[in-house]
Amino acid sequence: MVFWPLCIWGSKKTNGLISRILYWLSHRRQKVEQQRLLGDNPALKTLLFHGLYDDALGPCPAGIDKSLACGLSTLRRCLEETCEQGFSFIHANEIPKALKSRKRFALLTFDDGYANNRLMLPILNRLQVPALLFVTTDAMLRRRSYWWDVLSRETMKRGITTDQLSRNRLHIKGLKPADIERQIESVFGEDCYLPQGDHDRPMTPEELTKFASDPLIAIGNHTHRHALLSQLNLDEIEDELHVCQNHLREITGRNPQTLAYPNGRWNTNVTHIAGKLGIRHAFTTERLISPLPVRSTKWMSLPRLQP
Ligand SMILES: [Zn+2]
Repeated sequence: MVFWPLCIWGSKKTNGLISRILYWLSHRRQKVEQQRLLGDNPALKTLLFHGLYDDALGPCPAGIDKSLACGLSTLRRCLEETCEQGFSFIHANEIPKALKSRKRFALLTFDDGYANNRLMLPILNRLQVPALLFVTTDAMLRRRSYWWDVLSRETMKRGITTDQLSRNRLHIKGLKPADIERQIESVFGEDCYLPQGDHDRPMTPEELTKFASDPLIAIGNHTHRHALLSQLNLDEIEDELHVCQNHLREITGRNPQTLAYPNGRWNTNVTHIAGKLGIRHAFTTERLISPLPVRSTKWMSLPRLQP
C-alpha cells in the first residue's frame, strides 16, 4: 500500500510541536478578540459549521473527520448562547444592511453542502435563526463523497494515526482538484468515493432545491470542485466560480451573491473575478468577529468563527 509522503518538512516531533504552538496562538488570538467584542460593541459574529449529526441517537459516526462534524445539541447551545450575548441572527439578504450598521448581528453559515445539514431545520424554525449554506457543486452532481471524508474513512480503516492522517491531508490539500481525485483513487480504488450514508454525502440537487426553498435558507458559492482558489490561474478561478454559480442558479432559481473560499484561500484575482460574477460578499476562515460597521474594502474577506 502506497501513501503520500508522511513527512512534508521537519520531523514528526517538530511538526507536532509547531502545529500545537500555531493552534495555541490562533486560539488565543481568537479568544482575545472575542472577549473585546463580546461586550456591548457593535459586531458581526459569523459562525462556521460543516457536517451535522443527531447526537441524541448516538456519537459522531465512525470514519468521518470529527473536526468537521457537530452534534445537533451543540449547534442548538451555540445558537442560544449567541442570542444571549445580544446578537440577532440575520438572513443572507440582510448582510449589506448589517455591514453598514452599528448593531450586534450574527450569521450562521455551513460549508460544503452535506446532506445532514437538513437536520438543522427544526432547530432553525424553533429559534427563528436563518442559515447560509456554501455549496460545492461537483460532488453533489456526481453524488460522491468529499475527498477529505474518503481520506479519513479509508486511512482509519487501515489503522493510520491521527497525526499521519493530518500530514496526509495537508499534503493532498495543496494539489489541484483533478490531481487530488487521481491520487485518492489510485491509492484507495475506484469505488472509494461512494458515500456510506448521510454522514459523508452531499445533498442531491433535488434535496438542495427543496432545502433552499425554505425561507430561512440561503445558498452561496463554495466553488465547483472545492478548489484552493489562490493557487489557480485566472481561467481556472473563473471556471471554478462560474460553473458553481451556474449550477446553483439552475438548482435554486437564484444567482448566489455570497462566496466562501475553500480553506479560506483567496487573493485579489479571486475577488475581482467573483465580483464580475455577481458575488457581493465573501467569507474566509479567519477566526475573528468583525467590528461593525465594516468598510467596503473588507466585504470580500469577512472572517468566521468555528465554534
Ligand atoms: Zn469547504
